[in-house]
Amino acid sequence: MVQVHRNGEIFGDGRGRAARGGRTVLVAGGAGFVGSHLCDALLAQGHRVLCVDSFLTGSHANIQPLLNHPAFRLIEADICHLNDIDEPIDQIYNLACAASPPQYQADPMHTMMTCVQGTGNLLRLAEVNGASLLQASTSEVYGDPEEHPQREEYRGNVSCTGPRACYDEGKRAAEALCFDLYRAGRVDARVARIFNTYGPRMQPDDGRIVSNLVVQALSGDALTIYGSGEQTRSFCFVSDLVRGLIALMNVDPNPGQPVNLGNPGEFTINELAEMVVSMVRCAGEIVYRPLPQDDPQRRRPDITRAEALLGWSPTVPLAEGLRKTIDWFETFLTETKDRRRPKTGPARESEHRTTPVPVGA
Ligand code: UDP
Repeated sequence: MVQVHRNGEIFGDGRGRAARGGRTVLVAGGAGFVGSHLCDALLAQGHRVLCVDSFLTGSHANIQPLLNHPAFRLIEADICHLNDIDEPIDQIYNLACAASPPQYQADPMHTMMTCVQGTGNLLRLAEVNGASLLQASTSEVYGDPEEHPQREEYRGNVSCTGPRACYDEGKRAAEALCFDLYRAGRVDARVARIFNTYGPRMQPDDGRIVSNLVVQALSGDALTIYGSGEQTRSFCFVSDLVRGLIALMNVDPNPGQPVNLGNPGEFTINELAEMVVSMVRCAGEIVYRPLPQDDPQRRRPDITRAEALLGWSPTVPLAEGLRKTIDWFETFLTETKDRRRPKTGPARESEHRTTPVPVGA
């Protein structure tokens, strides 16, 4: 058990003040897709929330309803330059980083520095506050995995020179920092390895598969599939993930090891496209584009550890979560009248089209 000292007191696991009432929780990346849902959940539990966001990929709309909440404070800052906060903090969630491949590849230097410098700054903040810190790591630390499903013991198959490296290697380095400071007894650090997550408030043009397919289907555009579409992913609805993050932050004792959080249901990209087409009831034309370099072929979490240590497992099936996501995007697109095509993806010269996926398939 880590003992963290602050102002001459000793806080077991850095959660001493928390035991005396509502906590002050800093959410870095709190205006992002996952972060804003986490802010909602923490406020609903009665905590004070300090939302730190640079708005590089976060959105004001995500937190607009919270701005008048008496327990919510917005701090516009980049964690790469964050040194101190002018009030005591009990817990820190670090979700601050671009997470979709096109976005994190747009400024690889900044992505890497966000993971390393930014996480370092938050760890220092946690240390001086005697706060617990939960680092949002990623299934990307497994790279294009040769072990399936992925257990936390698996060390991964990551290219350190490829286009995903700024994110994958940055997140791996951030894990190293967390466990170094944890072992040294300096910070009660916890690490969640988050697998593909989806739900309301995804950005319509962030280039990820669920948002791309849903926006394309609702807009009557062709659905873009990279490669053969036989690569797999496991999709976790955002409310399940947020529940897992909060459970990991609060479990006692600190597991002292990374914990996978994801939904073990595994689908090919073609299967996902069929579901979206059937639920949106659109024509379902598919356009195939080249597979991006280093795109993982299979991904599925082994969540045995999360089940055993946190009593956590996801409860929202893909069809149910997709329904909620489609409904949200439908409203969002109507309200914004912003039926934008996703701006990302490899060059169009090498596209080829197929016959539509049958509705109801
Ligand atoms: N993908 C696709 N069409 C799209 C966007 C993504 O076929 O319009 C594929 C992508 O190549 C990958 C999978 O869908 O195999 C998941 O991509 P995403 O960017 O959502 O996340 P990743 O798991 O690769 O980080």
